[in-house]
Amino acid sequence: MSDNNICVNKENGKVWLVGAGPGEVSLITLKGKEVLAEADVVIYDALVRGGMMSLLPEKAELIYVGKRAGNHTMRQEEINSLLLEKALEGKRVVRLKGGDPFLFGRGGEELELLVQNGIDFEIVPGVTSAFAAPAYAGIPVTHRDFCRGVSVITGHRRSNGVLDVNFKALAETGNTLVFLMGMSTIDIIMSGLLDAGMAEDTPAAIVEKGTTSSQRVLTTDLTHLKETAEIRHAEAPAVIVIGAVAGLAERFGWRGSLPLNGVRAVVTRPRELSSGLALMLRKRGAEVIEVPVIGIEPVRDNDRLQDAIGKLKEGYYQWVVLTSPSGARVFFDELMKTADARVLAGCRIAAIGKGTESELAKRGIHADMLPSRFDGRTLGAELSKLLRAGDKVLIPRAAIGNKALNEELSKPEGVVIDDIATYDTVYRAPVWFDAAKELADPHTFALFTSASGVRGFVSAYPAMDHSAVKAVCIGAMTAAEAEKHSMKVWISEEATLISLAERLMQASEELTGKES
Ligand code: SAH
Repeated sequence: MSDNNICVNKENGKVWLVGAGPGEVSLITLKGKEVLAEADVVIYDALVRGGMMSLLPEKAELIYVGKRAGNHTMRQEEINSLLLEKALEGKRVVRLKGGDPFLFGRGGEELELLVQNGIDFEIVPGVTSAFAAPAYAGIPVTHRDFCRGVSVITGHRRSNGVLDVNFKALAETGNTLVFLMGMSTIDIIMSGLLDAGMAEDTPAAIVEKGTTSSQRVLTTDLTHLKETAEIRHAEAPAVIVIGAVAGLAERFGWRGSLPLNGVRAVVTRPRELSSGLALMLRKRGAEVIEVPVIGIEPVRDNDRLQDAIGKLKEGYYQWVVLTSPSGARVFFDELMKTADARVLAGCRIAAIGKGTESELAKRGIHADMLPSRFDGRTLGAELSKLLRAGDKVLIPRAAIGNKALNEELSKPEGVVIDDIATYDTVYRAPVWFDAAKELADPHTFALFTSASGVRGFVSAYPAMDHSAVKAVCIGAMTAAEAEKHSMKVWISEEATLISLAERLMQASEELTGKES
């Protein structure tokens, strides 16, 4: 019996071959997302972009098997064995591949060993770049006025160095031709089709990094295809579209007009908070990479907080002050262990900003006050005007809380403040994110929504040159922290996520303005 024929046992795991889609994260299928959310191991390659990482469970083991700097980090046979090995360990294994796993994805090869060994598997098809990149460039791959079909062809040479394509047969179909992996053989594709009798002025387009915020669409015609690629420095991954439909890109192109097209945003918020901001930016056309450099760890066996909750039940406090969305979440999680929201009936609740306010709203509670500016000092100053002597204020919040809030709240006579640490902020460095390389990109900005986010980023990536970071910050405190590390700083006008997104747009316009 060979090593590969290991007996099947009930404890075996399962493998899902999942198409990640062409680039833009939201183009993964619902099923792909569901499967990823339950993965124990995720094996991925170069076409899978960083933005997808937020869909993975935090505890999943991540294994990169793609090319880096032209070297295969893992041969196909090794990938096949790895899938088998992990499945035999009883794991739920997701093999995540760019586009559709069966279209030039070697998906078939990866199944052989699994079938031989009786491992269960499923295929989750994906949106292929062959159709999605043209679509995002405004090119319908078929159109009744121009063609009867579409052919998808590989431009990859065989191992003997030959590009084995029957150009004559292709030219005769009258189909739209979409070449994948064709950038290094673009001259052979061009001359092959011209020699086969295709008209020199047949419209052609190169769609580079299709569907992503860095997408470029280069339109030309067949005779100028190679020249266009050279002059405009076109790079893989790109699809080459040849046929009359390629001429529609100029009229139907749409991605380029989204307000944050061309912008890449690194969102550094804690994982459980980042999705709202990420969605807002993606809707505006930015590519978002969620890199949660800080995490929230609730204080375990929090006796002080449980005491305070006991006092809440007795009507001891007049005010509860919540100073961050995470603070609100942790507070309610702890409260629900021994009581429920009704214990808050007798007191009033202050929230530092909109995010915290909406955490409260999710729990059926309207905040009684929000400060006119969303920072600790303003909250303290404005709330202290509402306090009366003898009032008791509960502040359940981060262990490293903002001091200005307490200073302001202590100003009125006879106010009792119970400032209780409910969570610690921990810094972490997601291993898959190459911060120095990513932030060197002129279109990539880091978004910071708290000073601790900046500290988290710096401690996660201590070795990089922080002055290279283009930091868009939510408020003065956050900006001051970023400036300490010599980052290039933009500050949002208001401490809201919308205002932050607007500032990001302006920052990118400033920089692109300077470039041209
Ligand atoms: N299975 C993938 C294709 C893998 S072959 C799919 O269905 O999309 C790799 C080739 O796909 C690249 O050389 C390029 O031609 C194409 N490709 C992948 N992502 C792309 C993108 N975002 N934009 C343009 N082409 C892309």
